[in-house]
Amino acid sequence: MFTPTVDHEKCIGCGECEEVCPVDVYEIQDEKAVPVNAEECLGCDSCVEVCEQGAITIEET
Ligand code: SF4
Ligand code: SF4
Repeated sequence: MFTPTVDHEKCIGCGECEEVCPVDVYEIQDEKAVPVNAEECLGCDSCVEVCEQGAITIEET
């Protein structure tokens, strides 16, 4: 199982992670990415790669 976490100090709400995620993990709320479907995460790391702010970490548990 993979757990995506967004550092809201770094996130600028650009929406790139929401666009790239194949399973719609993210939703932008109040200009921050929120992993609303975190349990769907496949651990593909696409969101980590696309986030220019380095705001996303994926932890395997
Ligand atoms: S790609 Fe990064 S900066 Fe952009 S909304 Fe997602 S977490 Fe925030
Ligand atoms: S690692 Fe892949 S599946 Fe998981 S949140 Fe990021 S883009 Fe979505």
